[in-house]
Amino acid sequence: MLEDLVSCKGKLVDKLKCDKETTSRKRPENCVKCKSKEIIGVEVMGGYDGVLLWECDKCEHTILRFKKETTEKYLQLAKGLWTNPEDWGYVPRSEFN
Ligand SMILES: [Zn+2]
Repeated sequence: MLEDLVSCKGKLVDKLKCDKETTSRKRPENCVKCKSKEIIGVEVMGGYDGVLLWECDKCEHTILRFKKETTEKYLQLAKGLWTNPEDWGYVPRSEFN
């Protein structure tokens, strides 16, 4: 997923598999797609200090924590810091509630 983001020329947020109009400040109870309860918080280092978005551990559907524009801003910040996708601080935090 993040390799796509780094090489992408357009809006990064548009590459995410998610409903861009739906945001959730708190960890969602269930995945909107597959209803799985295994939602993980995803932290993108260099972008936002904390969980930036939520991702379903089963189907990888993404739920934004912030508005689309805000998420884009943080993703762009991270993109500027990390040139090698291997270096991206992609930290799933299953313990985060
Ligand atoms: Zn799911």
